[in-house]
Amino acid sequence: MERIYFDNAATTALDKDVLEAMLPYMTTHFGNPSSIYSYGRETRLAVESARKTVARLLNAHPGEIFFTSGGTESNNTAIAAAVYDLGCKHIISSPIEHHAVLHTVEHYGRGDVTLSFVKLLPSGHVDLDDLDEQLASQADRCLVTLMHANNEIGNLLDINSVGMLCKKYNAIFHSDCVQTVGHYPLDLRKTPVHFISGSGHKFHGPKGVGILYVNDNVKIHPFILGGSQERNMRAGTENVYGIVGFAKALEVAMDSYEKDSAYIQSLKTYMIEQLRRRIKCVSFNGDAEGKSLYTVLSASFPKTERSEMILFNLDINHICASGGSACTSGADQGSHVIHAINNNPNLVTVRFSFSKYNTKEEIDMVVDKVGELI
Ligand code: PLP
Repeated sequence: MERIYFDNAATTALDKDVLEAMLPYMTTHFGNPSSIYSYGRETRLAVESARKTVARLLNAHPGEIFFTSGGTESNNTAIAAAVYDLGCKHIISSPIEHHAVLHTVEHYGRGDVTLSFVKLLPSGHVDLDDLDEQLASQADRCLVTLMHANNEIGNLLDINSVGMLCKKYNAIFHSDCVQTVGHYPLDLRKTPVHFISGSGHKFHGPKGVGILYVNDNVKIHPFILGGSQERNMRAGTENVYGIVGFAKALEVAMDSYEKDSAYIQSLKTYMIEQLRRRIKCVSFNGDAEGKSLYTVLSASFPKTERSEMILFNLDINHICASGGSACTSGADQGSHVIHAINNNPNLVTVRFSFSKYNTKEEIDMVVDKVGELI
């Protein structure tokens, strides 16, 4: 039986055009971009043209784009730089960030540096009044790190309003955009943000490659020390085929953004309708039908002996979905996000997340199976 893959917030299948763009850099074009002879020059050119493509698609300057090993490294780099290089003495984040931010702010928010979390509204959205009050009450410079879209419940942050608040208080603003780069058109010249993080494998690009956007107005030191790659900002021989793949995946994603996003949103809406029709007691987490990522649907069901085994039983039935973020899928540790927004021990939660490769027929099959397993 064919598997049904509804875990696209964890990772996505590589687009075949992306693979094609990457292949030469895994075979014939293997030079080290730091080498001065022809092999090196051709891979250096590939890295720099990928940077230009990414910058054009995000409306940034090429000098503001740094390639990293993924979203986790980008988040770590931005948060460490805000503390060590930009004088931030207080960090404001949210309890529903991905662990790549949460564990990092817990690490840096110690000693001289303090840490607080914004309040959340019942919808799971950030309470902007609380953010305003927290910023106003701090004498020291703050780092605000808030994700653009939540990977578990899909809630979308009003990144412009947060950026304007940060501007008002001279705070540094970092946004983990791992779930939105390649899924929404971003215009970084018009977005009041100092850092954003993106990751290739969330939009049909390769794993192990990401970007950190660093606004021209901030000057930071490297997080990874060693060679002079990435204009002295990120040491280590470049992941050339990953970088080429990242740029190609972003190009493909943005070329078909309108068509793909409308299609994937129609799948999500259809699944909400079908789950409601089939399972009367289903509820949806976050602002599922409001300001929400079109790729993610988090559903909760009453906890019973049977429903508690749902992820396991879905897997046996060749359906891939998760209980929370990728790190917790499979292992039933509960999700810190669900815990923060809906502290109801009598519910079990499943995150379904979609891509352009999913179909309505797959949704029908999954809803039928969920109906049987609840
Ligand atoms: N931030 C968010 C919101 C994510 O969903 C993920 C991936 O699960 C990450 C960060 C980590 O990205 P990467 O896997 O590229 O390190």
